[in-house]
Amino acid sequence: MKKKVMVFGSFVVDLMARTPHLPVAGETVIGSLFKMGPGGKGFNQGVAAHKAGADVTMVTKLGKDLFAEVALDAMKTLEMDTSSLFYSEEIETGSALIMVDEETSENKIVVVLGACSAIGDKEVESISEIIEESGYLLTQLETNISAVEKVIDIAKKNGVKVILNTAPVQPISDVILKKVDIITPNEVEAEILTGICIDSQESASKAADWFFDKGVKNVLITLGSRGVFIASESKQEIIPAYKVKAIDTTGAGDAFNGGLVAALADGKDLWEAARFANALAAIAVQRLGTTPAMPTRKEIEEFIS
Ligand code: ADP
Repeated sequence: MKKKVMVFGSFVVDLMARTPHLPVAGETVIGSLFKMGPGGKGFNQGVAAHKAGADVTMVTKLGKDLFAEVALDAMKTLEMDTSSLFYSEEIETGSALIMVDEETSENKIVVVLGACSAIGDKEVESISEIIEESGYLLTQLETNISAVEKVIDIAKKNGVKVILNTAPVQPISDVILKKVDIITPNEVEAEILTGICIDSQESASKAADWFFDKGVKNVLITLGSRGVFIASESKQEIIPAYKVKAIDTTGAGDAFNGGLVAALADGKDLWEAARFANALAAIAVQRLGTTPAMPTRKEIEEFIS
């Protein structure tokens, strides 16, 4: 039977401007294109899982402002449940100011996490019942860590499987790590967390051992166009990525994590779920943007078959 999924994480509005060159300090540049849309790692992963067919409860925190409407509009359009969102009276909805050089694709980004970095313990406690009803919790490190720790704690105490995507990377306490069933760093994050440079299956295996020693049950290190290294204590392998022509890999990790949790909630084993996630991410990297790039279940099934 299909299990419920909770995605607990960030929401920010992406404000993207393309420009002939990136401004230096004090310079004003006339840009050529502006786009605004929903983003944030938590939200991207929630949308990816939802579009892949999962029964997702998205939990994040918004301000009481115009940018909150961006989240609500997107969720309503996608027919996602908006009943478990928190709101701040004082703090604005998160935003990301993204400047992209149209010649070189280099970028400069400032993220102000705003409301989603101020989720209180009481708020997390208020969703205890929804956490308990979930089969899987997927979270990241883009909300305040106190909330991540609390939500993981409630999940673990209630037998809910915990997936932690370690982006954006920052130190993670041993208390959190020992409650994690599946950790999903990319290779840079894995290196920063373990101190082991991931340049071969052997080094990925050593990094996995580092996580196992901390009590993590399963380790998936995403390797970009090379696929994903996957390890449980008894078996490990690299599952290659699909060979596709990538045009925008922003949010590839988010696509992968959303796909992973959707497939696990469907009852697939970790290996099958990683293949499904590889397929979802391979479709997403062939499209521009983050949430609009996430494929539907039908598109994923057609791609795999
Ligand atoms: P992040 O976006 O967190 O840096 P990765 O770059 O490791 O994550 O990508 C996550 C997953 O997305 C990979 O494991 C793979 O499944 C898929 N992916 C990323 N880049 C490509 C690519 N160029 N071609 C096919 N799949 C890709």
